[in-house]
Amino acid sequence: MVDDDILGMTYDVCIIGGGAAGLTAGIFAARRGLTTIILTKDFGGQTASTAEIENYPGFGRVEGLDLMKTFLDNALSFGCAIVYEEALSIQAVDGMYACATAARTIECLSVILAFGKTPKSLGVSNEDVFFGKGLYYSAHDPEQFRDKTVVIVGGGNSAVQTAVRLSTFAKKMYVVHRRDVFRAEKVLLSRLDSIFHIEQILNAHVTELYGSDKLEGVRIEISDKAETKEWAVDAVIVHIGLESKTALVEGLVDLAIDKRIHINAVCETSREGIFAAGDATTVPYQQIVISAGEGAKAAISAYTYVQKKKGLRALKVDWGFVG
Ligand SMILES: Cc1cc2nc3c(=O)[nH]c(=O)nc-3n(C[C@H](O)[C@H](O)[C@H](O)COP(=O)(O)OP(=O)(O)OC[C@H]3O[C@@H](n4cnc5c(N)ncnc54)[C@H](O)[C@@H]3O)c2cc1C
Repeated sequence: MVDDDILGMTYDVCIIGGGAAGLTAGIFAARRGLTTIILTKDFGGQTASTAEIENYPGFGRVEGLDLMKTFLDNALSFGCAIVYEEALSIQAVDGMYACATAARTIECLSVILAFGKTPKSLGVSNEDVFFGKGLYYSAHDPEQFRDKTVVIVGGGNSAVQTAVRLSTFAKKMYVVHRRDVFRAEKVLLSRLDSIFHIEQILNAHVTELYGSDKLEGVRIEISDKAETKEWAVDAVIVHIGLESKTALVEGLVDLAIDKRIHINAVCETSREGIFAAGDATTVPYQQIVISAGEGAKAAISAYTYVQKKKGLRALKVDWGFVG
């Protein structure tokens, strides 16, 4: 939450997305003295919903959520503001940008696009109605599922890992996958097989979500048996992959065929004043450390741009560099 008067100002940089790339951009931009705000749909992005990270340098083994909390604390400590709202549009106005959510518009001199990838939706009606009321695309807080009946949709590592992780909390679980075999790693599948209160339902897909104020049940179609099933459930967690959702920036910056944002080596997009970082971009290898590094680069580029725009000298970035 930020105060209304803070929201009324023109920011040096508005960052869209609060995952590894966006939060790191927040640290680097705010630490360089830029007035910085992050607009994000949720906290910590994909990393926050990953149970265990083993390859983020300096942390050994760490819960994704805990890792993202350290990023956030670091950004806040330098005065970066954060608002938990989805950016719905970005418009160029008089040499500046206006980033709008449903509730407000943020004016800024520069923008960093760090909106990563978005979980794919099930594609059934009522999805919007039950989102957050029994329908989830990540499972940040396992406690939320204690003693509940939960359906996990998907057959890859994310789905199976989530099922295994929640199994000590939920009383009954179903893993529903549309293919005839799971795609997850063997080690995860053998853990899944060993959990007696998880039913594995293959060749199946969810056809309906129902309930009144919150989700109360699902209908499933099992294609190889031409059969439908109906279960009363408390939660459905969808893990069927991720996609680049770039409608927000179509026509604003150049996109690749797969809809990722084209950037150069210093995270500049095709439009002056707009930078991008992390999984949302064409940079190869989608990893936390890479998104964080790219977020830092985008912030330094935004800093140089903003200083120039204000007629100020940018401080040198590289230690010991004599230019
Ligand atoms: C299951 C799984 C396990 C993984 N394991 C590892 C691992 O062990 N090690 C590793 O290095 N990497 C791992 N990764 C990959 C890693 O998580 C990603 O590369 C990294 O999180 C990308 O960070 P990002 O900030 O670019 O994007 P994201 O993490 O996708 O964050 C994007 C943020 O932007 C927000 N957003 C999206 N659209 C908008 C909008 N319009 N307005 C406002 N906010 C918006 C989202 O809500 C989100 O908070 C894993 C990924 C998954 C899915």
